Formats: sequence, C-alpha cells, structure tokens
Amino acid sequence: MKIAILPGDGIGPEIMNEAVKVLEALGEPFEMETAQVGGAGYAAHGHPLPDSTLKLANEADAVLFGAVGDYQYDRLERALRPEQAILGLRRELGLFANLRPAILYPELAGASTLKPEVVSGLDILIIRELTGDIYFGKPRGVRECPDGPFKGQREGFDTMRYAEGEIRRIAHVAFQAARKRDRRVTSVDKANVLETFQFWRDIVSDVHKEYADVELEHMYVDNAAMQLVRAPKKFDVLVTGNMFGDILSDAAAMLTGSIGMLPSASLDANNKGLYEPSHGSAPDIAGKGVANPLATILSAAMMLRFTFGRSEQADRIEAAVKRVLAQGLRTPDIYEAGTSKVGTREMGDAVVAALQ
Ligand code: NAD
Repeated sequence: MKIAILPGDGIGPEIMNEAVKVLEALGEPFEMETAQVGGAGYAAHGHPLPDSTLKLANEADAVLFGAVGDYQYDRLERALRPEQAILGLRRELGLFANLRPAILYPELAGASTLKPEVVSGLDILIIRELTGDIYFGKPRGVRECPDGPFKGQREGFDTMRYAEGEIRRIAHVAFQAARKRDRRVTSVDKANVLETFQFWRDIVSDVHKEYADVELEHMYVDNAAMQLVRAPKKFDVLVTGNMFGDILSDAAAMLTGSIGMLPSASLDANNKGLYEPSHGSAPDIAGKGVANPLATILSAAMMLRFTFGRSEQADRIEAAVKRVLAQGLRTPDIYEAGTSKVGTREMGDAVVAALQ
C-alpha cells in the first residue's frame, strides 16, 4: 500500500500533516513518500509537476493530494502555473472518474444556505467523467464563421464528443458505487437537445442491463440543477459528463456550506486514485494553523475504501470525524456559537483520539 503524499501549496502542507497522522494511527503497513507539487514543485524543480513527483505518483498505488496554487505564481505562463499539476496528474494517470460525495453532517446543518430540513443528513455522490466531453474534444479554436447570419465574422468553437467506451466505463463506476450505497443512479444528460447525450443515455441504459439490482433514472441537466437545490436528498448517485459534472458538483458542494469538509477521489480503470479535498490552497489563511483538515482526512478515508478495499478502516475514520463534530469541535470555517473553536492541529489530534 504505497501512497504518494503531495502536500502542495498554501494550506496543503498543514492539512496533509493531519491526514498523515490519522493514517499512521490506523496501524496499517502503509508506505508513504512525500514529493513537491504545484508552486512548491516549481520553486524546487522549475515545474509544477516535476518528473520525480510524476514518477512517484506512477509508482504509488494511490496519491493523496493537498492543494496547489498561490498568487505569487499567477503571472507565470499557463503551462508553469501550479494548477497545471493537477491537470497533468489526471492526464498521466488516466483518472477518468471523479467522485465527490456531498455529505452534510446533521451537526453542521446550520452552515448551509438552504433550510436545515432540506439539507440535514444529505448524503449524495456525484460522479463526473473527467477526461472527455467538450473540454477535450477537437477541433476547437477561433476561426472565420463559415455560415449563418454571422458568416465571415470570427467565432469561437469547441467539439462535444463521447466515445462508447468512455461512457461505458463511467457508467460501470456509477453502478458499482451505487451498490455500496442506496442502489440508485441518476444519469444526467441533455438528450433532448444534444446528439452526444442521446448517445450517452442509450449507452448508460445498455450498461444498466448488467445491474438489475440498481435503479436507474435519466434526468435532463437543467432539471437536475433545479432538483439539487429543491430536494437534494432524493438523489443517491448522480453520474454525468465532464462539463455538467463540473457545474453540478460545485453546486452540490455548496449545499453543504462548508468547503473544508468535502473530499474527492479521481479514479483510473483499476481503482488507482488521486484523493484530494474539494477546496483549493486557501492562501488567505495559509500558515495560520486554522485550516479545516477534515476534507483531507475524509479523502484519505475514500482512498482506503476505493483503492485499498479497506472499507472498515474508512468507516473508522468517518465515524471518528462524526464523533469529533458531535463533541462540538469546530475549525473557524464551520464555527457556530455554542461550539468550541479549534485549530488545524487540534482537529487532527481529536480525530486521532476519536479513532481509538
Ligand atoms: P479556495 O478553495 O482555496 O478558498 C476559497 C475560500 O475557502 C477561502 O476563503 C479559503 O480560506 C476557504 N477555505 C478553503 N479551504 C479551506 C479549509 N480547508 N479550511 C478553511 N477554509 C478554507 O479557493 P480560491 O481562493 O478560489 O483559490 C485559491 C488558490 O487555490 C488558487 O490559486 C486556485 O487556483 C487554487 N485552487 C486549487 C485547487 C486544487 O488544488 N485542486 C482547487 C481550487 C482552487
């Protein structure tokens, strides 16, 4: 069980320390090796994804990633900016499935912008296809408009496309994930307007024939956006393409009102994965010891479940997080009157103590 530990920039090293502490406390024979990535990679090796870091990520069974990005690197040419590291890792490791649970612990129901009764106890999983769709389709660019009322003017254009195999593999991920949950999948598309997504719908339905024990529902993306805000608890697993997933997963993340709580996983075809919190490097609070480490700790739990098949250890970590919240411990981002404010390290220590 070799894990590449990539802390990154900003609060990355602080939150990663706590996740590593929790992993160490489990008493499993993990082999953990740390490397620099993002701005830290650029500062040390002149590239946000140094060769040595990529080599480690390739060799490891899983990557635990903190966050990258810092304002001081914003003026670098795009290819050298810290954020390129995450795109490079997705591409190099073939991470095509992004899993983002949106969970709202009842103790934190007050943190959401939605009414507590709408979101309290929310537990949904958004699965976003990560390497295809209009984000990667070619041709793309700016050209002279060939037809229509704007013929001859400049126009921007992209290409939306999905190959059958791409849809099949993400559909399998969704149905298999649903089997570990409430056995319901909602496939989100725009089949009424887009050929690509009529094809998506047909292929998902075909894959579903192998999963008679899982319920499948199809939903248009505009309706899904509405339902996510109106009655999010009705979903179990939601699977969709890259662009729709990008938008819906951010909306779902914010239902919980606490970006410091949300883990994520990006998986390849063999369940090798990159696990990271859904938030960024939070340069505004870096170095202050106040960042919430729970999203990173919960990402480590996802790693145990999806890559290492250690569901019982993942359950242990998640139960410890619930216990700590029930004890009233809160980092400043989730603090409410009547609870106890703690820093990054105290929160990590409390999770370790709650594991025992
Ligand atoms: P951000 O997620 O870093 O921060 C948004 C807000 O949330 C900030 O106020 C921050 O203090 C707060 N926040 C985030 N994580 C927190 C935590 N664990 N505990 C407490 N508060 C937390 O997003 P941003 O400010 O838009 O971006 C900052 C940098 O992060 C940028 O350079 C951006 O490119 C990068 N970024 C990286 C990733 C990634 O590494 N995967 C993702 C998003 C943004």
